[in-house]
Amino acid sequence: MMCDILIEHVSILLEDLTIKEDQQVIIDKGLIVAINDTPDDTIQAKEKLDGSGKLLMPGLIDGHTHTCQQLLRGRTADEYPMVWTRFLVPFESNLTPEDSYISAKLACLEMIKNGTTGFADAGGVHMESVAKAVAEAGMRALLARSTMDSGAAITGAMKESAKESLQRSEALYQKYNNTSEGRIQIAIGMRQVMTCSPELLEGIATLAKKLEAPIHIHLCEHKDEVSFCLQNYQKRPAQYLADMGIITEKTICAHSVLLSEEDIAILANKQAKIIHCPRANLSNHGFPKTPLILQQGLSVGLGCDGAASSSLDLWEEMKILRYGIIAYWGLPTFNPKVLTCEASLDMAIRGGACAIGHSHDLGVIAKGKKADVILVNIDQPHLTPSQNLVKTIAACAKGSDVNDSIINGKLVMKDRRVLTMDEAEVRHQAEIHMNQIIKRAYN
Ligand SMILES: [Zn+2]
Repeated sequence: MMCDILIEHVSILLEDLTIKEDQQVIIDKGLIVAINDTPDDTIQAKEKLDGSGKLLMPGLIDGHTHTCQQLLRGRTADEYPMVWTRFLVPFESNLTPEDSYISAKLACLEMIKNGTTGFADAGGVHMESVAKAVAEAGMRALLARSTMDSGAAITGAMKESAKESLQRSEALYQKYNNTSEGRIQIAIGMRQVMTCSPELLEGIATLAKKLEAPIHIHLCEHKDEVSFCLQNYQKRPAQYLADMGIITEKTICAHSVLLSEEDIAILANKQAKIIHCPRANLSNHGFPKTPLILQQGLSVGLGCDGAASSSLDLWEEMKILRYGIIAYWGLPTFNPKVLTCEASLDMAIRGGACAIGHSHDLGVIAKGKKADVILVNIDQPHLTPSQNLVKTIAACAKGSDVNDSIINGKLVMKDRRVLTMDEAEVRHQAEIHMNQIIKRAYN
C-alpha cells in the first residue's frame, strides 16, 4: 500500500494524555489512517519521517489572534493607555490589502515554526488577503472580518456602517467558507461591544444564524467595556450579548477576563467557547476565573492575541496562564493543582480545536482523525529524561522544539524548514511593508 506520509519509531501523545512509545503512524489523504504497535513493512510512502527521539502530538490551535497586527510588533509594550486609540486604530486603519497579505504570511510562518497548525483570526479589514496567505501557507484557520460601526476613535478603512459591515462579512463567508480543501472557514466577527451598535449586533446574530456560522467576539477584556455596557444597557456584557443572540455554542469569547459568576453561568448555559490570552491580559486586565470556568464545564482554549505585545508561541501562553492561575487562585488556599500541566496542555490542543469548530476531528492522535499534527524533538536536555514527559512537555517545551509540522495531511515544516514559503523573502517583504505603514500611520 502507498500512503502520503509514514512516521516510524515515534512516541505518540494519546487522547488520555499518556504516551505510547515506538509506534508507526500512517497518514493518507489528510487523515491518520493507522497507528501500529508492530510496524507494517509493506507500507510505502511518498514521505518517510524518522520519529525516533520525537513526540507526535496534535498541533496547537490558537483560539484568538490578529494576523493584521503582526507588523505592530514592538510598538505597544510598556505603553500607557489607551493603546487602542493611540496605536491600534491608526495602524489597522492604514493597512492596505498588500500589507495585510504579507502580515498574515509572516504570522503563519511564525505560527508554523511554533507548532501551531490552526488558528482563529478575530480579523481586520482585508480578510481576502489573509485567506490568500492562509491558503498558500497550508494552515487551517477560522477567519472573521472585524466589524464595527461606532466609537469615536475609529477612522479610515475601519469605519463602516452596520449595513456595509454585514454585507462585507457575508461576502467573505460566501467566497471563502470551506475553501482550500476545507482548511479555511469563516466566522462572523464582532470587535467588541463598545464599537458595535445594537443594530449591528442584531444583524450579526441574524446573519450568523442564517449562515450557521460561528461568531468571534472580544468579551470582558477591559473594565471600560463592562462599565460602558452597564451605563448604556444596564446589563453586563455577557448578559447583554446573550440577549442580543450573539452568544451561542459556536461563539468564541476571546479574553473573558472580567466575568462575574453570573456571566460564567450564562456562558456555560450557552456552551460558548472561552479563549484566554494570558500574556495580553495578565499585566493590564488581571486574572481570569479559570478554575470556576472549568468547573462549570466550559471549553477553554488559549490565544496569543497577535504579535503586537508578544510572540505567537502558545507554549508560552500555557506556562504563563498556569503560573498566573496558581499564584492568584491556588496560593490563597494552598492548592497547587488549581490548573495542572495536563489541563493547560489540553487547552492549547482541544480547547483550540473546540473553538474553531473541530471538536470531532481535531485535537486527538487517533485513527480517522484529521492529520494536523506536530513532531516535537524530545531528545534535548530541557525535556528528557523525564519521570513524567507529559508534565515536562507542558511546563518546559518551547515553540522551537517543534521539528516538523503536518497540516491536513501535508508536510508544511520539515526539520524546522517551512516548505510552503520562502522564510527570508517573507521577512524581507514584511520589513519593507512595516516601514511604509509606520510612515502612513504615525507621521
Ligand atoms: Zn483580540
